Amino acid sequence: MEAPAKKTIVIPDRNHHEGLFFLSLDVPHTCIHCGGPRGRLEWGKIWDRGYLRVNVWKNRCGHVEQYDELRRHYQEEIKMHEGTRAYLLMAIIHTMMEMSQGMNVDIEELKRSLTLAGIDGEKLLGDMPLVKAIQIVCREFGELDLSEKTLLEMVKKSAEDYELGS
Ligand SMILES: [Zn+2]
Repeated sequence: MEAPAKKTIVIPDRNHHEGLFFLSLDVPHTCIHCGGPRGRLEWGKIWDRGYLRVNVWKNRCGHVEQYDELRRHYQEEIKMHEGTRAYLLMAIIHTMMEMSQGMNVDIEELKRSLTLAGIDGEKLLGDMPLVKAIQIVCREFGELDLSEKTLLEMVKKSAEDYELGS
């Protein structure tokens, strides 16, 4: 049998998402409980100190896939992206510090990086003082469980980017 097709699902990154933190996962489009086909993805909004736009769906098998169950089920997949997330968060912090010094930064590019890192950039940059936004991103970086290996990969990637940019 062929492997089931993958689709990207957007779910909250944690229960207390504050309307900011989401996960975008490219995973098989099958129910985690029975392996049956997952229902059609739609957009919904969930609330925790702010609205977050996430996918909702109804499975034909009748199983409800809770967001915390999905995070547990896909934890390997999530772990795999931590290095990239760490790298993005560092670059974002750097850019936001430049912003705080009044330097001209590409806001759209910054929002795109935030989205890739699973943070709602529109909300982060639109709704709150810059210093607060920087604190939130720094907190996210601090929460990562990074290994020496991941750190080395990050430094390498950062050096490559530097060469590209220079
Ligand atoms: Zn099922």
